[in-house]
Amino acid sequence: MTTKQSIVSSSLLWREPGKAPCDSHARIAFADGLITDVAVGGPAIRDGRLLMPALVNAHDHVRGLRHLAFGARDERFETWRAALYAHPRIDVYSNACLALGRMALAGIGTTLCVYSSIRVDRLIDDARAIARAAKDVGIRVGFVVPFRNRCTMALGDDQAVLALQSPEDRALIEKTWLYPWPSAETYIEIAREIGKLESDTFFVQYGPNSPHACSDELMEAIIAAAAADNRRIHMHFLESEPQRQWADAAFPNGILKHYDAMGLFSERFTGAHGIWLSQAECDFLASRGASIAVNTSSNLHLYSGLSPIDRYLRAGLKFAFGLDSFSLDDDEDMLRELRLSFYLHSVAHRPPGLTPASLFDAALKTGFWIVTNKHGYGAIEPGMPMDVLSLDYAAMTRDLIEGMIEPEDAMIARASSRYVRDLWVAGRQIVSDGKLVTIDLAAAEQDVLAQARAAGEQMRALKPAMARHQKTLRDFYDRGLHMSPQSRS
Ligand SMILES: [Zn+2]
Repeated sequence: MTTKQSIVSSSLLWREPGKAPCDSHARIAFADGLITDVAVGGPAIRDGRLLMPALVNAHDHVRGLRHLAFGARDERFETWRAALYAHPRIDVYSNACLALGRMALAGIGTTLCVYSSIRVDRLIDDARAIARAAKDVGIRVGFVVPFRNRCTMALGDDQAVLALQSPEDRALIEKTWLYPWPSAETYIEIAREIGKLESDTFFVQYGPNSPHACSDELMEAIIAAAAADNRRIHMHFLESEPQRQWADAAFPNGILKHYDAMGLFSERFTGAHGIWLSQAECDFLASRGASIAVNTSSNLHLYSGLSPIDRYLRAGLKFAFGLDSFSLDDDEDMLRELRLSFYLHSVAHRPPGLTPASLFDAALKTGFWIVTNKHGYGAIEPGMPMDVLSLDYAAMTRDLIEGMIEPEDAMIARASSRYVRDLWVAGRQIVSDGKLVTIDLAAAEQDVLAQARAAGEQMRALKPAMARHQKTLRDFYDRGLHMSPQSRS
């Protein structure tokens, strides 16, 4: 079925961000979700807008309610994580609508959703709610089915960590934090049920939470099922220094060797963060065709370190960028996230550094691959998806003297989500003139906040126990217990 061809026009077109200069007076024709023709230099168009490919968020947890709202303040990742248990139970659909809607307003057309609920009994229903939110908001979502069956609280055996808590807190933690994990078979059945939700804009992946969180038996089941289903595997990988220390203690022959023997690393594998990878490990992962999701702002918020992008570049290891549910300013500003990453990893830092070409190649092309398992994105060309955003370039450059700066240089230095005006995903316009037109975002926010505040009393009651638990974890890591033989469960 062929639908009518539509046309979008603008003053400027950044057809291949970072690689080629902007064109003027552009017209993009599209039909059935794909770009059919791109014409530039025709009759003058002076709307002051710039069109470019929609952005990709290659690692995120799609949290409508922000971390600070439920008490997770910035601190070292390993203790910060514990604060996530204070997340109140709120409607999954509304929460996802809020997060995805905000992303759309920031020009993100495709995002990963690493779902992190530990309630396996509700997973299928939750995935259905998120798929519905993705469809209603209108952006592409790669849903990562969460798997874990050990080391819930720390880089160590759950019972050993539980024994470190005061007796008064043990019962509470057991009730709130710990959960009877299903068998590997049940987990795979659940993932396959969720896989039935797949569509042109909703993709399903396997998400072992991290190496320490999954037993070898579970990992083997995931790897076999992902290979049989040709699905991607997305896993947090060497995000923090304690994780590096745990891995070195747990796998004296090397963590990569251990999982490579199981067949984990392939072009369908993405490691999230990958901050503590050595050059040799980057070389190895590159040889397997694997990729990394870099989360610069998250790494800053959680004191995890800077991703060794110089090593990735040297190795030819593919990577993309994600917000991990918080940017520098705790919003969804993906354009600012790219700029921050570019500056932190440009030539001035450890060479080789990012160039505009390698930045956008990673962000768009590899990002889309990491989320959707599909190639063929990153430029505005016939045959590519009609996933395009427009920015108010005139407002962004209102103080600049005409003819003194190239548009792409202004974009690198200034582009941010506040200038995003329109967004099309698969040919459907979901943001128009700076407003989300698919759902009522204000209502979604009101709904989420009302539900969260209704749980406020319960959350505040939990706070002292949470603080004591975090202190126990701090002691646990300070004493190096994550490197003890007991941690190798
Ligand atoms: Zn994450």
